[in-house]
Amino acid sequence: MRGSIPSPGPETSRYGGNTPCVEVRIGEELVLFDLGTGVREFGQAAPRPVEGAIFLSHYHYDHLQGLPFFGPIFDPRSRFVIRGPTRDGRTVKDVIAGQMQQPFFPVTAEMVFRAHLEYEPFAAGDRAHVGQGVITAIETHHPGGNLAYRIECRGRSIVYATDTEHGTARDAQLVEFARGADVFIYDAMYTEDEYLGRSGSPRIGWGHSTLETAVKVADDADVGTLVLFHHEPTRTDDAMDELVKTAKRLRKNTIAAKEGLVLKL
Ligand SMILES: [Zn+2]
Ligand SMILES: [Zn+2]
Repeated sequence: MRGSIPSPGPETSRYGGNTPCVEVRIGEELVLFDLGTGVREFGQAAPRPVEGAIFLSHYHYDHLQGLPFFGPIFDPRSRFVIRGPTRDGRTVKDVIAGQMQQPFFPVTAEMVFRAHLEYEPFAAGDRAHVGQGVITAIETHHPGGNLAYRIECRGRSIVYATDTEHGTARDAQLVEFARGADVFIYDAMYTEDEYLGRSGSPRIGWGHSTLETAVKVADDADVGTLVLFHHEPTRTDDAMDELVKTAKRLRKNTIAAKEGLVLKL
C-alpha cells in the first residue's frame, strides 16, 4: 500500500505504513503479489505451514524488503514458488540471493531459508496456473521495468498494476490488460498537481502515476473497483482521506488500499 519506503507513525497508522504486499486467495490457494514490509505481518498471522505462489513486480527495495523477515520462509514445512522478471541477465533467484549478502544482510538465503522454494522466471506474456486461477503479466513504464499482473478465476479478475508512470504507449496496453477487471489496483502515488510540479518539485520521470490518471485508466478499461495504491510516504492519513474524497468525486467506485483491507469477489 505505501510506496517507496515504510512510513510508520501516528499520522499513517490508519492507511498503514508498510510497503506493498497483496494477498489473494483463490479458494484455498494463496497468491502474494510483492514482498514489501507488509509480508512480515502476513507471515506472523498466517497459520503454518504456508504454501503459496509469490509474484514479484520488480525488485526495488520497497517490493522485496519484507522477505528476510517473512517467518514462513524459515519453516521447513512451508512451500513457495517465487516468480519474477529476469532483469539485466539476473533471474529472480539471483536477485533475491543478491539482496541477502554481506554487508547488507548478515546471512544468505541459502543459509537460512528452510522452506521448500522454487524460483521461476516470469515475463510479459507468460501464464501461470494457481489452483483454478490463471495469472498473466505485461510490462509497465517504470525505471528498470515492472510487471503488472492479472489474475482470472471463474469469470472474476484482479489487476495489480503498481509502479507505473503514465504518458507512454504502454498506457493503452494497460487499459487493454485491465479491461473489465473487477478490482484494479493502480499506482496513484501523486496528485496531478504534485506530478506536474504545481506543488513542490515535479515528479515526472520518477516512475509513478497520479490519482487523476488512475481514474482515467479505470474508466477507459471499464473496471469495477479502483484501488488507489503505492501511497506517497509523506502523505498523512488526513491527507489520504482528502485524496480519496477527490478521487470518489471523479469516480464513485474508488477506494484506497489500507493495511488489512479485505475485498471479496
Ligand atoms: Zn514501489
Ligand atoms: Zn519501483
